[in-house]
Amino acid sequence: MERFCCTAILLSRVDFGESDRILTLLTEEKGKLSAFARGARKSRRRFAGVLEPFSLIQVSLRSSRGALHQLDEAALIDGFDGLRRDLGAMARAAYACELTREICRESAASAEFFSLLRAFLGGRADSVELMRFELGALSLSGLRPSLDCCVVCGASGGGEVRFDPEHGGRLCERCARSRGTRIAGESLGVLAALQMGAPEEEVVAPAWVRAEARAALTGFVVHHMGHQLKSYDFMRQIGLDA
Ligand SMILES: [Zn+2]
Repeated sequence: MERFCCTAILLSRVDFGESDRILTLLTEEKGKLSAFARGARKSRRRFAGVLEPFSLIQVSLRSSRGALHQLDEAALIDGFDGLRRDLGAMARAAYACELTREICRESAASAEFFSLLRAFLGGRADSVELMRFELGALSLSGLRPSLDCCVVCGASGGGEVRFDPEHGGRLCERCARSRGTRIAGESLGVLAALQMGAPEEEVVAPAWVRAEARAALTGFVVHHMGHQLKSYDFMRQIGLDA
């Protein structure tokens, strides 16, 4: 039996039995892990108000032989209250946490992934910052899309450009042979700028360009995850372009 403390972001929680919960946490020290929170639904005192989705918490865990850790204590570091006052930001935070849960491998320690998610939750959590988060998450997971040149031949010139998630991103007209979807250079430019870490004020683009960039990125994520994320549907339901 090993005891340890971690800084964690609560990615998701599911009810278990009468009074317990199973949590999925992204920890700074040990990557993603699952924890059993005994009495989390009943006891008002034990984890009062701490185990909320997207919260940044300090946790004390015990690990046994199984994959599930036991949560002994939890204290709130940051509830990201700014986020919780805005339905759009909440929906994007849910999407970012769901993507993290799906894409991040169990116990692959990744302080970088933790910083990326923490920065997103503590920032503006708008549609541009969400795309930045997704591109970062893809890169850290070895799924970095090629945006500034053709995946096959490396051409970066003009002419018709296509985007094909199956081939890993951008394709020139010659290599595409009508695979993928046509995309404007400006839309790929927005994604490439975010992938390179450009500040938001430099990523200025008309609505149609952002919409096209969004659609390309969604297609890429869906292709690699094998399905649409549930929280993406929710973003659409509340009228967000994401
Ligand atoms: Zn090519």
